[in-house]
Amino acid sequence: MSTAPAFDAVDPAFAQLRRLTEISRALTYTTSLEQVTRLTVERGAELLDAQAAVLMLPDAEGLLHVRAAHGVAEELVARFRAPLNDEVLGRLQGLLGVPDDCFIAVPLVVGGAVTGLVAVATRQPSTAADESLLSALADQAAVALENARLGGEVRVEMEDRLRASEGATSAKDRALATLAHDIRSPLGAIQGYCELLEDEIYGPVNDRQREALGRVRMSGRHLLSLLDNVMDMARISAGVVQVSAEPVALPDVARDAVHMLIPAADAKLQTLQLGRMAPATVTADHARVRQILVNLIGNAVKFTPQDGSICVSTAVLARGDAHWGEVRVADSGPGIAPAEQSAIFQPYYRSEGTAHAPGVGLGLAISRALVEQMGGELDLESEPGAGSTFIIRLPLLHPPA
Ligand code: ADP
Repeated sequence: MSTAPAFDAVDPAFAQLRRLTEISRALTYTTSLEQVTRLTVERGAELLDAQAAVLMLPDAEGLLHVRAAHGVAEELVARFRAPLNDEVLGRLQGLLGVPDDCFIAVPLVVGGAVTGLVAVATRQPSTAADESLLSALADQAAVALENARLGGEVRVEMEDRLRASEGATSAKDRALATLAHDIRSPLGAIQGYCELLEDEIYGPVNDRQREALGRVRMSGRHLLSLLDNVMDMARISAGVVQVSAEPVALPDVARDAVHMLIPAADAKLQTLQLGRMAPATVTADHARVRQILVNLIGNAVKFTPQDGSICVSTAVLARGDAHWGEVRVADSGPGIAPAEQSAIFQPYYRSEGTAHAPGVGLGLAISRALVEQMGGELDLESEPGAGSTFIIRLPLLHPPA
């Protein structure tokens, strides 16, 4: 962009946007936690013409401490520890020694969870635009930090495992996980910029432009979920996925998952409803059960034609000595041929007849691996032309004595 400096002189907002783009790009190629935190405070201070900047992350006990600082004496920040609540802001402002209107702090957020904090002390009283810029930078940094953590975790664990098993089979997973990791950050940047444009930070946006931005964001979200699947599969293959064992009320999770997918079913004029709901509580990982159900109901919506129906129900079941809580996702879609019924649970397998629908063929492989890790099973009952029923079975919390 050789013309950029000329624009910079005319419009300082353009100069800031260009600098933010450069930082995002730099973050994309930064894979260690240390580098990401250092780059964020140094370039963040420059971006906002701030005298000081700090980035805080929680330690093992959940107390925030300064991981990188710019423009503040090392010894001042070295021992600073604070819980993640309002108190930390006051103490941090005191540490940086600036008045209220020269202090901006924004959270680092990944997937709705706060994972840290970035704060700056500006030389001049800060503006709403400064806060937006810092938020955009924090979004980039949060994704880059998460990638550095996940990428490191996946790479190290997978390399260990590959060495141990000499398993050339995982080389594909490793290559894909690395690729997914490298695509995730710029994709985060695309999402971030769309939000800034929608918020009219860079000037007025008309209705047609807003609609187009919405489409860009939707495609971006879709791509992000595909990448998350690739990374999930790589982690499962490497054996580094942990599942918790807590009481999970299946009807509650089923209801949540159905609510999430009603808009998608409505868009295809399908009926998505809850059927018989037995009060089954199982021992499982709540977030993972939800992920699996969203995946199964999502598939039902995706593969069932317009006007079709999908029913989600729960039951309690005894088989031999085992007592299960069960969730069934039944659809009136095309069904699955007997010859393909075990293949569809293999990673990357997609039935020829359904190849027109978006996807990479990882959802069912991930779902089955997770259910099995929780001590359960994922089954399928289907006949071509007569719909499919996917059944999750998980160990009942209080089996009858
Ligand atoms: P993806 O949805 O990305 O293709 P999945 O692992 O979730 O990956 O599914 C693998 C394949 O199983 C799909 O491509 C499709 O052929 C088949 N499949 C899954 N769910 C259904 C369903 N409810 N009805 C018909 N076919 C299905």
